[in-house]
Amino acid sequence: MNLTGIWAAENSRKRSAVIGSGGAWEGAQWMADLRRTVQGLWGGEVLWGCPMARYSTLRAGGPAAALLEPRCTTELAGLVRGFQANGIDWLVVGGGSNILVCEQGFAGVVLHLGRQFAAISKLSNDEHGVLVTVEAGCSLARLGNWCLGHEFTGLEFATSIPGSIGGAVVMNAGAWGREIGSLVQQVTVVDTNGNLADLAGETIPFRYRSWGLHGQVVAAVTLRLGQGTRQEIEESCHQLSRRRRESQPLAKASAGSFFKNPLNGPAAGKLIEDAGLKGLQVGEAMVSLKHANFLVNMGHASADDFLRLMKIVQEKVFAMTQIWLEPEVRIIGERRK
Ligand SMILES: Cc1cc2nc3c(=O)[nH]c(=O)nc-3n(C[C@H](O)[C@H](O)[C@H](O)COP(=O)(O)OP(=O)(O)OC[C@H]3O[C@@H](n4cnc5c(N)ncnc54)[C@H](O)[C@@H]3O)c2cc1C
Repeated sequence: MNLTGIWAAENSRKRSAVIGSGGAWEGAQWMADLRRTVQGLWGGEVLWGCPMARYSTLRAGGPAAALLEPRCTTELAGLVRGFQANGIDWLVVGGGSNILVCEQGFAGVVLHLGRQFAAISKLSNDEHGVLVTVEAGCSLARLGNWCLGHEFTGLEFATSIPGSIGGAVVMNAGAWGREIGSLVQQVTVVDTNGNLADLAGETIPFRYRSWGLHGQVVAAVTLRLGQGTRQEIEESCHQLSRRRRESQPLAKASAGSFFKNPLNGPAAGKLIEDAGLKGLQVGEAMVSLKHANFLVNMGHASADDFLRLMKIVQEKVFAMTQIWLEPEVRIIGERRK
């Protein structure tokens, strides 16, 4: 049986999460109906039974029923509208640097925003700086290089944060005391009805590792940057990436910090280290020896390995400190009981 078949068989019980509770939807039939509906909405390539390990920097994770890559906002909005109208579960991923799809998979369609959805344009200069608009799938790395080439400053703190600008806004990615939310002037979103709206940056309730909104897809982001010099920007980027290399296990597959830092109190990594958990391994998932808040893939870790390791870390840290660590990584799909 191929992956699609396995997926369809294993997930027949999940049909209600996607199509509703109509008892007629079962296994292979469910998949066939999904295929028909998706093909009615999308003429481009679809990856059926797509292993999400390929789309996650953890290099682990179960399959999605289908994955496709919209190339523009109109396509994105049309797909969202179509999936909503047909009761199909869907989600958006960018660089996959903060997701873990459960072993059982995701019973729906993943909309991957990547290189095809990544245009960058400069809008204007004024006394407050420069406005740059970038489509959601653009990687922070490419945007950073583009800014360096144009001598636009402000994004240096995000050097070496993997992922897309869309994911960075949703996660309010940050480092070294800065967060992306502080640069956001406007976000163009697609809502769950497939309608477009422009949200002013100051109306978005950014908080620690979240933009505070739900159910909206980031299609494009306008950032306010400053004018700098190539030399200063380059120096700052080099310095920050060196600090990362020194403190983080960048040679191993990970999702960066696996847990959020508790709001008041020691950082998650310190709590995990103090609990003596560095090096703890479940299957091929391990608490990094270099940075305790990184759970790393030692080779062929499964999503279950990561989830079991996550739970042990949460329980042991809680037993010692009464603090329950919340994952920063977004866990997708149904966990095995
Ligand atoms: C080595 C390493 C280092 C890291 N260092 C940092 C760090 O210093 N600081 C930090 O904050 N993070 C860090 N991260 C985590 C991660 O890179 C960021 O959270 C990143 O911004 C996520 O972007 P992404 O495109 O990969 O999102 P994904 O992992 O693809 O998605 C994350 C979440 O955002 C949603 N999403 C993605 N794109 C969209 C969109 N266009 N519209 C709506 N929802 C969307 C997804 O559904 C999911 O819920 C690190 C990760 C790694 C692997």
